[in-house]
Amino acid sequence: MSSALESFRRDFGGDIIEPGDAEYEAASRSVVTTGSPAYVLRPATVADVQTAVGFAAGTGLPLSVRGGGHSFPGFGTNDGGVVIDLSRLADVDLVDRERHIVRIGGGATWGQVAAALAPHHLAISSGDTKSVGVGGLTLSGGIGWKVRKYGLALDSVVTAELVTADGEVVTASAEENPELFWAIRGGGGNLGIVTAFEFAAHPTTDVFFGKVTFPASEAVEVLQGWANHLRTAPEELTSIASLANPFAGGHEAPVEIHVAFDGDDEALADRAIDPIRRLGTVVDDDVALTAYADVLVEGATPPPGIQLVARNAFADREPVPEVLQILAEVGTSPGSPMIAVRSVGGAVSRVADDATAYAHRQAELMVVTVTGGPKPVIEAARPGLDALWGKLAPHVNGAYANFLAAAGAEDVAAVYPAETYRRLAAVKRQYDPNNLFARNHNVRPA
Ligand SMILES: Cc1cc2nc3c(=O)[nH]c(=O)nc-3n(C[C@H](O)[C@H](O)[C@H](O)COP(=O)(O)OP(=O)(O)OC[C@H]3O[C@@H](n4cnc5c(N)ncnc54)[C@H](O)[C@@H]3O)c2cc1C
Repeated sequence: MSSALESFRRDFGGDIIEPGDAEYEAASRSVVTTGSPAYVLRPATVADVQTAVGFAAGTGLPLSVRGGGHSFPGFGTNDGGVVIDLSRLADVDLVDRERHIVRIGGGATWGQVAAALAPHHLAISSGDTKSVGVGGLTLSGGIGWKVRKYGLALDSVVTAELVTADGEVVTASAEENPELFWAIRGGGGNLGIVTAFEFAAHPTTDVFFGKVTFPASEAVEVLQGWANHLRTAPEELTSIASLANPFAGGHEAPVEIHVAFDGDDEALADRAIDPIRRLGTVVDDDVALTAYADVLVEGATPPPGIQLVARNAFADREPVPEVLQILAEVGTSPGSPMIAVRSVGGAVSRVADDATAYAHRQAELMVVTVTGGPKPVIEAARPGLDALWGKLAPHVNGAYANFLAAAGAEDVAAVYPAETYRRLAAVKRQYDPNNLFARNHNVRPA
């Protein structure tokens, strides 16, 4: 055993999982990818994270940092490298009851957060799935069921504690290291390992949640009417329109309009949702008062060999009719990928484009396609997918890192507009000059 490894084993207080260990198979995979890392390290303390970073940097092996492990490109694992799995750093503590400040370990999941905050009638605008990690989702955005009212998950972050590439513990907030604070709110895992976040949570009641469905044949009218309504609907209403749900008939599936109304006043909720109900022939309507923590769904881990290809882009206000026309046509034709159109805008758009490293503030909608299956199915679907994105290309812009299965230079350029990238690269040079944290939509040190 090399002396570096020996001293690491002595100093590290967390778990070290290696090939051959009983836990290895489960520990080596992330949610959407299998991997074969040389070491999976599960730090139990911040000091362990510092030790693990020093060890990883010393080995020169590829390094993956894993929060909830949901990244579509499989950043949370690798072959032959080191994985720092933060799942033991998952405490959720309400540290300031008056200001609703919640301290959350960098390896917690949103299900853990929702469950811990429910007794306090608090919630944080996050995502839609319990098993998704606070770390990955927040560091690149966070678009969930309260996004129009409270903005992105990263808009509620007030402080982050990071271990940087040189093993130092650094605090980032509006007052301390403000440029780093700007960078971590959108810059993904590029700047260091966040061991804890502090969020300002929001009071929550039960919410009106569910979906209203319409026949696929009414897709054009329903989608256009839905987008028009959202322009004037109260920000309590967040909504996702889905087409070609593979579990409900693929391209023949009904158009699903998922709604979350942030409040428990039925009359107000109806006033916000009824215009959607009037858009066409309602096939089903299961909107009901639901505890916020129950709105989040359990995440499923696909069996090994199943790939998930997610692509996305934003639509600003003007081209929305063209975008929806294309989606309605493709989404009701054979071979369509699953399509989700997420409402953004609202509180997201009230933050300046350059206030955080998440820059796509002016978008009205985000279009996401997801194709799933074994490799031959993915390959067979690729021409259709490329054709759809080719049609959309003149009308959409940018990309959201968290719903992007690819991470090439053009993907990174779509995530970060040129000025955002330039500024991020300067911060990267200061905190990670050797690009230790590279398994992400990677920003090269300037
Ligand atoms: C089933 C499913 C549902 C989803 N739903 C939503 C949704 O509703 N809204 C939404 O916005 N997104 C959603 N996503 C996308 C999700 O936000 C991204 O996949 C996100 O990157 C997952 O974060 P993670 O921590 O689970 O993943 P990981 O794979 O662990 O991490 C993703 C990236 O973040 C980095 N990272 C994670 N934690 C830390 C940390 N503490 N410090 C530094 N770097 C870290 C990793 O190194 C990696 O680069 C969903 C994804 C899936 C698979």
